[in-house]
Amino acid sequence: MSSIARVEPLTTARALRGPFDYRIPHEMEGVGVGSVLLVPFGRRRILGLVVDVCDHTEVPPDKLVEPLAPLEAGVPAELVELGRWLADAYCSTPARGLALVLPPGTGTASHATPGASTRELLEAALTPAGRDAIAGSSRTRLGPKQHAALSRLARGPSTAGELGVAHGTLASLERRGLVSIGRRAVARRPSGVDRGAGKRVTAAAPRVLTDAQAAALAAVLEPLEARRHAALLLHGVTGSGKTEVYLRAADAALAQGRSAIVMVPEIALTPQTARRFEERFGERVAILHSQLSLGERYDEWRRLCDGQARICVGPRSAVFAPLTDLGLIVVDEEHDSAYKQESDPRYDAREVAERRARMSGAVLVCGSATPRAESWQRMRKLSLPARVDNLDLPPVELLDMRGLRHALHPDARRALEDVRTRARKAIVLVNRRGWSAFVECRDCGRTWMCPHCDVTLTLHRDDPTGRLACHHCGHWQPAARSCPDCGSTAVSRHGAGTQRVEAELREALAPLPVFRLDADAARRKHGIAETLAQFDAAPAGVLVGTQMVAQGHDFPEVELAVVQDADATLRFPDFRAEERTFALVSQLAGRSGRGPGGGRVMVQTMSPATTCLRHAARHDAEGFLGEEMDRRRALHYPPFSTLIHVSVSALDQELADRTAARVAERLGALEVLGPAPLFRLKDMYRSRLVVKAADRAPAVSAVGAAVREVGADRKLRNVKLVVDVDPQ
Ligand code: ADP
Ligand code: ZN
Ligand code: ZN
Repeated sequence: MSSIARVEPLTTARALRGPFDYRIPHEMEGVGVGSVLLVPFGRRRILGLVVDVCDHTEVPPDKLVEPLAPLEAGVPAELVELGRWLADAYCSTPARGLALVLPPGTGTASHATPGASTRELLEAALTPAGRDAIAGSSRTRLGPKQHAALSRLARGPSTAGELGVAHGTLASLERRGLVSIGRRAVARRPSGVDRGAGKRVTAAAPRVLTDAQAAALAAVLEPLEARRHAALLLHGVTGSGKTEVYLRAADAALAQGRSAIVMVPEIALTPQTARRFEERFGERVAILHSQLSLGERYDEWRRLCDGQARICVGPRSAVFAPLTDLGLIVVDEEHDSAYKQESDPRYDAREVAERRARMSGAVLVCGSATPRAESWQRMRKLSLPARVDNLDLPPVELLDMRGLRHALHPDARRALEDVRTRARKAIVLVNRRGWSAFVECRDCGRTWMCPHCDVTLTLHRDDPTGRLACHHCGHWQPAARSCPDCGSTAVSRHGAGTQRVEAELREALAPLPVFRLDADAARRKHGIAETLAQFDAAPAGVLVGTQMVAQGHDFPEVELAVVQDADATLRFPDFRAEERTFALVSQLAGRSGRGPGGGRVMVQTMSPATTCLRHAARHDAEGFLGEEMDRRRALHYPPFSTLIHVSVSALDQELADRTAARVAERLGALEVLGPAPLFRLKDMYRSRLVVKAADRAPAVSAVGAAVREVGADRKLRNVKLVVDVDPQ
């Protein structure tokens, strides 16, 4: 009998859960797990993904229908399994989980054609009638342009662009039977800039690894060569040679005929890693990231699928690269929370990488100078204790800001002036963009709040009057000249943002150039890359910016790094606050003193006794993690438990709380904290439950079921429930 395809509909409707069975006709013999099909569904036609093929179905023969057509690009079977697992593991729907593994541009809605395919150009070829026409052996009359075009076609098929004529001209020649029009497939390769590759020098591998690198590499190669899964943590400060270890491991995987995935937190902020893989492996590398056009992404995807490219470098979505025979997955800068996706499916690419590596018997290597507690606990540790160049890490000074009213400590100011005198470079990290954190009326104490969210507005001064902006919903309004409550014109501005520090430094350090890097500057296309390139090219200068300035770029002339307000991350009400602050200070320290001039790091804080800062000042990741692990164990936080957030948003607080309480009632067996109100966001009142579970999978499925049950109540149509497993 003919076989049956079990098809998961690729629609975002939560209620529609497959799989549904279809009969595979003989002419679609090639259809298997991973095929994308256009199928009839009721009176509609929708896209579906084959998740299983079997020879039995419960559907009566007269009800069983056939797919309409298979689409050209399918997905490796292994990725189908990964997508389905992910949907369950993060409380999402199969369609959303599977959408992650589909070829770029495959519609998840009900439209019938995929959004991208191999780019095709229409190309004209001369017909025998056309040949006769230019030879003058027929009575066809040609205009001079038509004659010229046909003469060129006599030398071979060409596109309208190559012929220099309008598409309409070719179309009319086709109608007259003088040319035939066909398709030519072309691959779009992203240009060097888009691929994050600026300087194109071919980097030869260093001939000798350091002893520490050699030992780490051997520990990676051992399971790789045995084709056995292993999860390894490569702990090493910036400049300790981690990337060189990744490169050699990838080389070994390729030599085995296997493939590799290399994940970076964000291409724009970590261009060096991507570039070095391209330099070492050339065309065998495909780069996937969101700044590529859909067409470019599709073509890179295709090259991976066809085996032309065997290494995929990219941010979190690279974990879904359609590679077969995977031997190695690298997660660079594994501490970076950018690996967590903040929209449904809220997956953590590091977890997905671990899962995928396990499924395909590949070796997972996570690298960082400041590993997460989770990785420290779970993985085998490899260590690169010193920088390759044997330079010392820069000394870190904690500057006590208590009692000071200026944005910068006098010592930091002096150090920056010294940078100007010696024409060197400095980086200043400011945790908030804009001018000042909030504004307040000096007479009546009024603060300016967002009308849609319960948060204060931030002053931005892109022009002299300025505007007040909400960093949560995008609302903005002109900055007021006087207080609407009491009429006072005395307004005080509290807290320093990137714009204000930039302006102050520009004045204090003139003529030293000051560059700013934050989300506002990044909004321009290539804004990040441009600013980094300008700072790189300048003979001297200061780079002021948000956390982006602490990520993996390498500027050897930077001799000073200042953290303007370490308390901003410390005060964040989250159990990862210490870990984040430690990582931020350490990463910034890694940015300074990479050249022969050495460097120093200054951390401004109101709480210089905080242990995470004291550990960071000593470059003591191990000591920090030891204490952090004890604290997490005592408080029953990850990695000693799994956290799941359930957030409810509604048009009033009471409804949000009540709905959250209904979910909580169904979770009797689990440890549940809340409901606790969250601040109002975009006019929605919110309430949150925190579930702490020792056993992850059953807790996730219990929470998923509870949320589905409560959410099915039609009275709650306007209430939104969101589950976030392992929130970051
Ligand atoms: P990380 O990834 O830990 O920051 P890298 O692998 O980028 O470290 O190494 C830092 C620098 O040292 C790079 O310029 C790299 O080319 C160089 N390097 C790495 N390993 C060696 C080695 N064994 N001998 C000489 N130079 C090396
Ligand atoms: Zn007032
Ligand atoms: Zn707002």
